[in-house]
Amino acid sequence: MIFLDANATTPPSRSAVGAMLRAARRGWANPSSSHRAGRQARQLVEDARVTVGQLVGVGPEKVIFTSGGTEAGNLAVHSAVEAHGGRHIISSDLEHPAVHNPLRQMERQGYEVCRVPVSPEGLVNMDAIRNSLRADTALVSVMWANNETGVIQPIPAIAQLLAGSGTLFHSDAVQAAGKMKLNASVLGVDFITISAHKFYGPKGVGALIACGKKASLRGLIHPQLLGGGQENGFRSGTENVPGIAGMGAAALDVSSHDPAAYDRVNGLRDAFEAGLARVWPDVAILGAKVARACNTSCFRIPSVPGSTLAYKLDKHGVAVSTGSACHTGTTIPSRTLLSMGLTPKQAAEVVRVSLTHHVTNQDIEHVLNVMEKLSSHIRASAR
Ligand code: PLP
Repeated sequence: MIFLDANATTPPSRSAVGAMLRAARRGWANPSSSHRAGRQARQLVEDARVTVGQLVGVGPEKVIFTSGGTEAGNLAVHSAVEAHGGRHIISSDLEHPAVHNPLRQMERQGYEVCRVPVSPEGLVNMDAIRNSLRADTALVSVMWANNETGVIQPIPAIAQLLAGSGTLFHSDAVQAAGKMKLNASVLGVDFITISAHKFYGPKGVGALIACGKKASLRGLIHPQLLGGGQENGFRSGTENVPGIAGMGAAALDVSSHDPAAYDRVNGLRDAFEAGLARVWPDVAILGAKVARACNTSCFRIPSVPGSTLAYKLDKHGVAVSTGSACHTGTTIPSRTLLSMGLTPKQAAEVVRVSLTHHVTNQDIEHVLNVMEKLSSHIRASAR
């Protein structure tokens, strides 16, 4: 199989799997226990905290491990509004449900959430963010890179706009980590959230990283899980030591990536899109004119349902995903795509190809050959 669905998940790297196995064998004790076995498990957690912090340029004291990007996103937005006290939030329709849904719940509880418009290229409107800011704006939450289009949002510009305002800034960086160098502390983002399984680590583990200058996170992080007080009291529950160790190893791999590795994937993505345009001259590539994560291509072939193309590619051993979710027989168009101005029919034509860093030139050539075959079949059957 040629796996072109890296934005859904990535295969855990050899070093992540090795770290998990070692932790399962030698780090199985409770990291809160004070005996030697407990201290060994604790060491694995603390080592991982260092490498995960390094991934985004912060110290280990800023890293709070969670059960993944969803929990981290929930913790970030709840913490920010409670820490600030304001009742107004700015976000966008691009956000993943990990952020969108907690914000919807807050709206039902009386918070005012302003979702700024998005351009046809998939970028949030900076002027709208600027004009929506109020004295009681507690939080701006805008993702770093979109999971569907790969479009990279103007994070430095938003951080600059908010500098000194007191409004907290969260960016869901789940789709950015591992696809570009991140240095959140320099940029002035208050919170970023990441998930290990999107950068060749295990599933079920992620982190909220408080990147701000404040030395203490007290008063800034408002725990959502109450219990034994693990993670400095910010996230209770016995730590998933193998998962955290795997995340630490994956973070170390990513931090030591040669920038040329991103360029290579970017080159393959561009070659794929150029080939696609030869096979399907009417293809529309979403976000093609703006900066995107190096591995993501999101496209639409007019009058070809994305589900048909994805199904046929799967039959040929190529795994991709579509721009719409199918729930109990109904197709639900993606909020992101609708916010970019696509109609529900156009959104249903969208296919996302997202490359892992294992993909080769030969893989791309093979996929384009398959696409060519499919294009003749699909065109013939449409006649
Ligand atoms: N945020 C974004 C942008 C994502 O793409 C995802 C997963 O697809 C998440 C958050 C949720 O992460 P997790 O699967 O670790 O809960």
